[in-house]
Amino acid sequence: MTARMIDGKEISARRRAAVAQRVAELKTEGITPGLAVVIVGSDPASEVYVRNKVKACAETGVFSEKIEMSAETTQEQLLAVVEELNARDDIHGILVQFPLPAHLDEDAVIEAIRIDKDVDGFHPESVGRLLVGKDTFVSCTPAGVMVLLEESGVDLRGKDVVVVGRSNNVGKPAALLALERHATVTLCHSRTDDLPGHVRAADVVIVAVGRPEMVKGDWLKPGAVVIDVGINRLDDGRLVGDVEFETAVEVASAITPVPGGVGPMTIAMLLENTVTSAIRAAGLE
Ligand code: NDP
Repeated sequence: MTARMIDGKEISARRRAAVAQRVAELKTEGITPGLAVVIVGSDPASEVYVRNKVKACAETGVFSEKIEMSAETTQEQLLAVVEELNARDDIHGILVQFPLPAHLDEDAVIEAIRIDKDVDGFHPESVGRLLVGKDTFVSCTPAGVMVLLEESGVDLRGKDVVVVGRSNNVGKPAALLALERHATVTLCHSRTDDLPGHVRAADVVIVAVGRPEMVKGDWLKPGAVVIDVGINRLDDGRLVGDVEFETAVEVASAITPVPGGVGPMTIAMLLENTVTSAIRAAGLE
């Protein structure tokens, strides 16, 4: 069997086109969705991520404001900026790019963001709402994983879903979202006994670990659907996922490539969340 590709680039482009159309409609009603992106210091990877987010906003008509702060910024200064953004009517989403410099308290910054502007879905209240099944902004990467599955016609109802990785931003919310879709969910991590055995039982495997090509093709149940969240750069410059693509593609029925799978979905979800926030702020939903 050779798996069919789940094309994140194509699905993301479609979702972004829908965002652009919705934004154009909202503008005729005098509403322009706005996203503020705060970056502290000059981490090169963060700068790339922020640049991509600002570019995606420009391409879809979402207003964006990039706020660059020095690496010496104090906690009080950063919280003051968040407070200002919380109060602004033209800003519907606030994103503080992580990691922050070590002297800053990321949890306190997340908690300072107004819940209705938490388009990254990292606020404990947003996470709590997800846990109890209430409507909320969901962390963009796991939300993107669910869209990839839906758009590929993979129904999770009754399926055995194994999530490998239990981070707050990917693994745990992915498990909750799969549960909400009526899957039977197993959440694996670094202390899981017999990880290959768990993976082998899965109809759908979602891997978010950060270890290049850790999950091998012979760990998979034939016909499994594989979603590879991992992005790892090898010494030779190649970008690979957490799944060994060459072997997995021979066993799976559908698989996300890296790059071009989950990666492109994250920004699409961020744009969607920002538009949703603007619609709610205008009282249209
Ligand atoms: P974290 O480092 O926060 O979490 C990694 C998780 O993997 C932890 O729960 C850890 O377990 C688990 N883990 C580590 N080693 C093993 C192992 N040997 N066996 C089983 N589980 C293991 O990473 P993230 O969730 O933030 O990111 C994971 C990957 O996804 C990375 O490659 C990252 O680059 C990528 N990523 C991609 C995004 C995108 O596409 N837009 C966005 C976010 C992340 P434990 O809890 O026990 O330590």
